Amino acid sequence: MTDLPGVELTLYPEDLPFFDGLERGEVVVTWCDHCDDHVWPPRSHCIRCYSPVAGSRTLAGTGEIYSYSVVHRGEGVFAKRPPYVLAYVSLDGGPTIMANVVADDPAALAVGARVRLRPRPAPATGRAGALFAVDPSA
Ligand SMILES: [Zn+2]
Repeated sequence: MTDLPGVELTLYPEDLPFFDGLERGEVVVTWCDHCDDHVWPPRSHCIRCYSPVAGSRTLAGTGEIYSYSVVHRGEGVFAKRPPYVLAYVSLDGGPTIMANVVADDPAALAVGARVRLRPRPAPATGRAGALFAVDPSA
């Protein structure tokens, strides 16, 4: 299973900590200090208490697969990719996010499998989403 290329995304200022963090090999989520909890998807104001969100937190970059799908026929820039895995990953201490998961052994994929962020260089064009790999020690 493979990783996905970068794509041109329309990003808002609130999105930048997350995508900039990925390019440093970190998972960074926006954080409401009033609620002491994440705000996901990133927003300028907390979705619970409506306070302005000015902060972010760097998470451990580990979590578990909440759900996943092996995509055999992608669209657009993903059309010519070999099968790839899209998953919802429940981050330790954070939200559940959509991510790409690479696995040498697809049989290792399962709901509940532990995963860890796999750092990768910034794509030549666009932005890449989060990439995780199965890591039983995570
Ligand atoms: Zn709040």
